[in-house]
Amino acid sequence: MKGCLELLPTNIKEYSPEGSRRSSVGEGWVPIVEELHNILVKVDSRYRIDQVKEKFGGLRYYFTPSFVPKNEPQRYSSMRYLVELAEALAARTCAACGRDGEVRNLGGWIVPRCDDCFVNETSGPSGDVSVAS
Ligand SMILES: [Zn+2]
Repeated sequence: MKGCLELLPTNIKEYSPEGSRRSSVGEGWVPIVEELHNILVKVDSRYRIDQVKEKFGGLRYYFTPSFVPKNEPQRYSSMRYLVELAEALAARTCAACGRDGEVRNLGGWIVPRCDDCFVNETSGPSGDVSVAS
């Protein structure tokens, strides 16, 4: 199990949809984030992404609308709803490869992973192989 923590960062890809602030999510989540962004733009073409990240096994998508939320509560809540849908979808999607997955404990990290990625990341590779195959 040791060594998993070092492996994790290689699965994280820098992601900045508008070249604005740097955000990072697992590569498997990039399609979800891009899709979400494409839909949100249709609701509010000038909204701003504050940060997109992976936290406690969940997608976190922080944004600021170009309008004042209390002036257009319905519009704002529809954006919130879309974000929640994407976050729910991400929780069931392997953040490493994008296949169906579930939230697992990976050496202390709570991350969504499919069966294959979970096995790969918990079994190696390690610097000194001590277990015979
Ligand atoms: Zn996977």
